[in-house]
Amino acid sequence: MSNAQNWVVLKFGGTSVKSLADWRVISKRIDELREQGKRVFVVHSAVATISDLLDTLVTRAVSGDGEDELATIKARHLTLADELGVDGSVLLAPYFEELTRLRAGLSLTGDASPRLKARIMAQGELMATTLGQAWLAANGTASAWLDARDHLAAIPAGGARGYLACDCHHAHDDALLETLSGAAPVIVTQGFIARREDGDTALLGRGGSDTSASYFAAKLGAERIEIWTDVPGFFSADPRLTGAARQIRSLAYEEAQELASM
Ligand code: ASP
Ligand code: MG
Repeated sequence: MSNAQNWVVLKFGGTSVKSLADWRVISKRIDELREQGKRVFVVHSAVATISDLLDTLVTRAVSGDGEDELATIKARHLTLADELGVDGSVLLAPYFEELTRLRAGLSLTGDASPRLKARIMAQGELMATTLGQAWLAANGTASAWLDARDHLAAIPAGGARGYLACDCHHAHDDALLETLSGAAPVIVTQGFIARREDGDTALLGRGGSDTSASYFAAKLGAERIEIWTDVPGFFSADPRLTGAARQIRSLAYEEAQELASM
Protein backbone atom coordinates (compact mmCIF):
# COMPACT_ATOMS: atom_id res chain seq x y z
CA MET A 1 0.00 0.00 0.00
CA SER A 2 2.28 2.76 -1.18
CA ASN A 3 1.28 6.32 -0.68
CA ALA A 4 3.76 7.76 -3.14
CA GLN A 5 1.16 10.03 -4.67
CA ASN A 6 0.91 12.23 -1.52
CA TRP A 7 -2.76 13.02 -1.87
CA VAL A 8 -4.49 15.77 0.06
CA VAL A 9 -8.28 15.91 -0.28
CA LEU A 10 -9.93 19.35 -0.13
CA LYS A 11 -13.67 19.62 0.30
CA PHE A 12 -15.58 22.82 -0.41
CA GLY A 13 -19.29 23.39 0.23
CA GLY A 14 -21.72 25.25 -1.98
CA THR A 15 -21.06 28.64 -0.39
CA SER A 16 -17.32 28.20 -1.07
CA VAL A 17 -17.64 27.70 -4.85
CA LYS A 18 -20.21 30.34 -5.77
CA SER A 19 -18.00 33.22 -6.98
CA LEU A 20 -14.69 34.16 -8.54
CA ALA A 21 -13.45 35.25 -5.09
CA ASP A 22 -14.20 31.75 -3.77
CA TRP A 23 -12.29 30.12 -6.64
CA ARG A 24 -9.31 32.35 -5.92
CA VAL A 25 -9.27 30.98 -2.37
CA ILE A 26 -9.44 27.42 -3.69
CA SER A 27 -6.67 28.04 -6.19
CA LYS A 28 -4.45 29.61 -3.51
CA ARG A 29 -4.82 26.55 -1.29
CA ILE A 30 -4.10 24.25 -4.24
CA ASP A 31 -0.95 26.24 -5.07
CA GLU A 32 0.29 26.03 -1.45
CA LEU A 33 -0.16 22.28 -1.43
CA ARG A 34 1.45 21.87 -4.85
CA GLU A 35 4.47 23.78 -3.59
CA GLN A 36 4.72 21.23 -0.79
CA GLY A 37 4.77 18.49 -3.42
CA LYS A 38 1.24 17.27 -2.75
CA ARG A 39 -1.28 16.04 -5.25
CA VAL A 40 -4.66 17.63 -4.66
CA PHE A 41 -8.04 15.98 -4.93
CA VAL A 42 -10.80 18.59 -4.78
CA VAL A 43 -14.33 17.46 -3.92
CA HIS A 44 -17.09 20.04 -3.96
CA SER A 45 -20.80 20.60 -3.77
CA ALA A 46 -23.30 22.27 -6.03
CA VAL A 47 -23.27 26.08 -5.99
CA ALA A 48 -25.08 27.44 -2.91
CA THR A 49 -28.90 27.07 -3.04
CA ILE A 50 -28.82 25.06 -6.29
CA SER A 51 -29.58 21.73 -4.61
CA ASP A 52 -32.66 23.30 -3.00
CA LEU A 53 -33.72 24.69 -6.36
CA LEU A 54 -33.27 21.30 -8.01
CA ASP A 55 -35.34 19.72 -5.25
CA THR A 56 -38.11 22.26 -5.85
CA LEU A 57 -37.77 21.69 -9.58
CA VAL A 58 -38.55 18.00 -9.08
CA THR A 59 -41.62 18.74 -6.94
CA ARG A 60 -42.98 21.34 -9.32
CA ALA A 61 -42.20 19.43 -12.50
CA VAL A 62 -44.51 16.64 -11.36
CA SER A 63 -47.45 19.03 -11.60
CA GLY A 64 -46.33 20.39 -14.95
CA ASP A 65 -44.37 23.37 -13.61
CA GLY A 66 -40.74 23.92 -12.74
CA GLU A 67 -39.84 26.04 -15.75
CA ASP A 68 -39.08 29.02 -13.51
CA GLU A 69 -36.74 26.98 -11.33
CA LEU A 70 -35.01 25.60 -14.41
CA ALA A 71 -34.54 29.11 -15.80
CA THR A 72 -33.14 30.33 -12.47
CA ILE A 73 -30.72 27.38 -12.25
CA LYS A 74 -29.46 28.03 -15.79
CA ALA A 75 -29.11 31.77 -15.21
CA ARG A 76 -27.16 31.28 -11.95
CA HIS A 77 -24.63 29.04 -13.66
CA LEU A 78 -24.29 31.21 -16.74
CA THR A 79 -23.67 34.22 -14.50
CA LEU A 80 -21.01 32.33 -12.56
CA ALA A 81 -19.42 31.17 -15.81
CA ASP A 82 -19.29 34.79 -17.00
CA GLU A 83 -17.71 35.87 -13.73
CA LEU A 84 -15.12 33.11 -14.08
CA GLY A 85 -14.50 34.01 -17.72
CA VAL A 86 -15.27 30.51 -19.02
CA ASP A 87 -17.68 29.56 -21.80
CA GLY A 88 -20.80 28.57 -19.87
CA SER A 89 -23.03 28.02 -22.88
CA VAL A 90 -20.70 25.33 -24.24
CA LEU A 91 -19.60 23.80 -20.93
CA LEU A 92 -23.08 23.61 -19.47
CA ALA A 93 -25.05 22.60 -22.57
CA PRO A 94 -25.15 18.84 -21.82
CA TYR A 95 -26.39 19.45 -18.26
CA PHE A 96 -29.00 21.99 -19.36
CA GLU A 97 -30.22 19.52 -22.00
CA GLU A 98 -30.43 16.73 -19.44
CA LEU A 99 -32.37 18.93 -17.00
CA THR A 100 -34.74 20.09 -19.73
CA ARG A 101 -35.39 16.50 -20.79
CA LEU A 102 -35.89 15.24 -17.25
CA ARG A 103 -38.23 18.10 -16.32
CA ALA A 104 -40.35 17.41 -19.37
CA GLY A 105 -40.37 13.69 -18.53
CA LEU A 106 -41.57 14.35 -14.98
CA SER A 107 -44.29 16.67 -16.26
CA LEU A 108 -45.54 13.98 -18.66
CA THR A 109 -45.57 11.10 -16.21
CA GLY A 110 -46.54 13.18 -13.17
CA ASP A 111 -44.42 10.87 -11.08
CA ALA A 112 -41.09 11.66 -9.46
CA SER A 113 -39.30 8.37 -9.03
CA PRO A 114 -36.25 8.34 -6.74
CA ARG A 115 -34.27 7.31 -9.83
CA LEU A 116 -35.17 10.48 -11.76
CA LYS A 117 -34.85 12.64 -8.67
CA ALA A 118 -31.27 11.42 -8.15
CA ARG A 119 -30.40 12.15 -11.77
CA ILE A 120 -31.78 15.67 -11.54
CA MET A 121 -30.15 16.51 -8.20
CA ALA A 122 -26.78 15.22 -9.46
CA GLN A 123 -26.67 17.91 -12.13
CA GLY A 124 -25.92 20.54 -9.48
CA GLU A 125 -22.55 19.04 -8.55
CA LEU A 126 -21.78 18.15 -12.19
CA MET A 127 -22.35 21.74 -13.36
CA ALA A 128 -20.43 23.36 -10.51
CA THR A 129 -17.36 21.13 -10.86
CA THR A 130 -17.33 21.59 -14.62
CA LEU A 131 -17.16 25.37 -14.27
CA GLY A 132 -14.62 25.27 -11.45
CA GLN A 133 -12.23 22.93 -13.20
CA ALA A 134 -12.48 24.94 -16.42
CA TRP A 135 -11.53 28.07 -14.49
CA LEU A 136 -8.59 26.36 -12.76
CA ALA A 137 -7.31 25.06 -16.11
CA ALA A 138 -7.72 28.45 -17.78
CA ASN A 139 -5.75 30.00 -14.93
CA GLY A 140 -2.76 27.73 -15.13
CA THR A 141 -3.63 24.86 -12.77
CA ALA A 142 -2.86 21.57 -14.51
CA SER A 143 -6.03 19.74 -13.55
CA ALA A 144 -8.56 17.18 -14.66
CA TRP A 145 -12.28 16.78 -14.10
CA LEU A 146 -13.40 13.41 -12.79
CA ASP A 147 -16.92 11.98 -12.73
CA ALA A 148 -17.19 10.84 -9.10
CA ARG A 149 -19.70 8.17 -10.16
CA ASP A 150 -16.99 6.32 -12.06
CA HIS A 151 -15.12 5.68 -8.80
CA LEU A 152 -17.68 5.82 -5.99
CA ALA A 153 -19.80 2.67 -5.95
CA ALA A 154 -23.02 2.68 -3.96
CA ILE A 155 -23.61 -0.24 -1.62
CA PRO A 156 -26.91 -1.71 -2.81
CA ALA A 157 -29.92 -0.72 -0.71
CA GLY A 158 -33.59 -1.20 -1.43
CA GLY A 159 -36.20 1.40 -2.35
CA ALA A 160 -35.64 5.15 -2.32
CA ARG A 161 -32.62 4.82 -0.03
CA GLY A 162 -30.68 3.06 -2.76
CA TYR A 163 -31.10 6.16 -4.93
CA LEU A 164 -31.24 9.06 -2.50
CA ALA A 165 -29.24 8.13 0.61
CA CYS A 166 -26.67 5.51 -0.26
CA ASP A 167 -23.52 4.39 1.52
CA CYS A 168 -20.47 3.68 -0.64
CA HIS A 169 -17.57 1.28 -0.76
CA HIS A 170 -14.44 3.01 0.46
CA ALA A 171 -11.69 0.45 0.77
CA HIS A 172 -8.20 1.45 -0.42
CA ASP A 173 -8.64 1.69 -4.19
CA ASP A 174 -5.64 0.65 -6.25
CA ALA A 175 -7.61 1.00 -9.48
CA LEU A 176 -8.35 4.65 -8.71
CA LEU A 177 -4.72 5.33 -7.77
CA GLU A 178 -3.63 3.65 -10.97
CA THR A 179 -6.04 5.78 -13.04
CA LEU A 180 -4.74 8.91 -11.35
CA SER A 181 -1.05 8.04 -11.52
CA GLY A 182 -0.78 9.30 -15.08
CA ALA A 183 -3.35 12.07 -14.70
CA ALA A 184 -3.00 15.77 -13.93
CA PRO A 185 -1.67 16.58 -10.43
CA VAL A 186 -4.94 18.24 -9.43
CA ILE A 187 -8.29 16.49 -9.71
CA VAL A 188 -11.71 18.12 -9.38
CA THR A 189 -14.73 15.95 -8.67
CA GLN A 190 -18.23 16.03 -7.23
CA GLY A 191 -19.44 15.43 -3.74
CA PHE A 192 -22.88 13.91 -3.14
CA ILE A 193 -23.04 11.52 -6.12
CA ALA A 194 -22.17 7.88 -6.72
CA ARG A 195 -23.06 5.03 -9.08
CA ARG A 196 -25.38 2.11 -8.38
CA GLU A 197 -24.56 -1.41 -9.50
CA ASP A 198 -27.17 -1.07 -12.27
CA GLY A 199 -25.36 2.01 -13.56
CA ASP A 200 -27.89 4.56 -12.35
CA THR A 201 -26.93 7.65 -10.40
CA ALA A 202 -27.27 7.55 -6.62
CA LEU A 203 -27.04 10.35 -4.05
CA LEU A 204 -25.43 10.18 -0.62
CA GLY A 205 -28.21 12.22 0.99
CA ARG A 206 -28.42 15.97 1.56
CA GLY A 207 -25.19 17.39 2.91
CA GLY A 208 -23.42 14.26 1.72
CA SER A 209 -20.39 15.93 0.13
CA ASP A 210 -18.33 15.74 3.33
CA THR A 211 -18.92 12.00 3.29
CA SER A 212 -17.89 11.81 -0.38
CA ALA A 213 -14.63 13.57 0.45
CA SER A 214 -14.01 11.14 3.33
CA TYR A 215 -14.69 8.16 1.09
CA PHE A 216 -12.23 9.44 -1.51
CA ALA A 217 -9.61 10.19 1.16
CA ALA A 218 -9.90 6.60 2.39
CA LYS A 219 -9.74 5.19 -1.14
CA LEU A 220 -6.63 7.25 -1.97
CA GLY A 221 -4.92 6.71 1.37
CA ALA A 222 -4.73 10.51 1.49
CA GLU A 223 -2.33 12.19 3.93
CA ARG A 224 -4.97 14.66 4.96
CA ILE A 225 -8.49 15.84 4.31
CA GLU A 226 -9.50 19.47 4.72
CA ILE A 227 -13.16 20.40 4.98
CA TRP A 228 -13.54 24.07 4.02
CA THR A 229 -16.64 26.04 4.93
CA ASP A 230 -17.58 29.70 4.99
CA VAL A 231 -17.59 29.70 8.80
CA PRO A 232 -14.12 30.43 10.22
CA GLY A 233 -13.87 27.48 12.61
CA PHE A 234 -15.85 26.32 15.63
CA PHE A 235 -18.32 28.50 17.50
CA SER A 236 -19.74 28.11 20.99
CA ALA A 237 -23.23 28.14 19.42
CA ASP A 238 -24.82 28.48 15.98
CA PRO A 239 -23.97 32.11 15.01
CA ARG A 240 -27.15 32.26 12.92
CA LEU A 241 -29.23 31.65 16.05
CA THR A 242 -27.51 33.85 18.61
CA GLY A 243 -25.32 36.93 18.49
CA ALA A 244 -23.67 35.61 21.65
CA ALA A 245 -21.90 32.84 19.73
CA ARG A 246 -18.14 33.10 20.16
CA GLN A 247 -15.41 31.63 18.04
CA ILE A 248 -13.42 28.97 19.88
CA ARG A 249 -9.69 29.43 19.35
CA SER A 250 -8.46 26.00 20.30
CA LEU A 251 -10.29 22.75 20.74
CA ALA A 252 -9.36 19.14 21.43
CA TYR A 253 -10.42 16.57 18.86
CA GLU A 254 -12.90 14.90 21.26
CA GLU A 255 -14.48 18.25 22.15
CA ALA A 256 -14.78 19.15 18.47
CA GLN A 257 -16.47 15.84 17.80
CA GLU A 258 -18.91 16.42 20.66
CA LEU A 259 -19.75 19.95 19.46
CA ALA A 260 -20.20 18.77 15.90
CA SER A 261 -22.60 16.02 16.90
CA MET A 262 -24.62 18.44 19.04
N1 ASP B 1 -25.30 19.78 -2.64
C1 ASP B 1 -25.76 18.77 -1.71
C2 ASP B 1 -26.69 19.39 -0.70
O1 ASP B 1 -26.87 20.59 -0.72
C3 ASP B 1 -24.62 18.05 -1.05
C4 ASP B 1 -23.80 18.88 -0.11
O2 ASP B 1 -23.84 20.10 -0.17
O3 ASP B 1 -23.07 18.32 0.69
O4 ASP B 1 -27.22 18.69 0.09
MG1 MG C 1 -24.89 21.80 -0.69
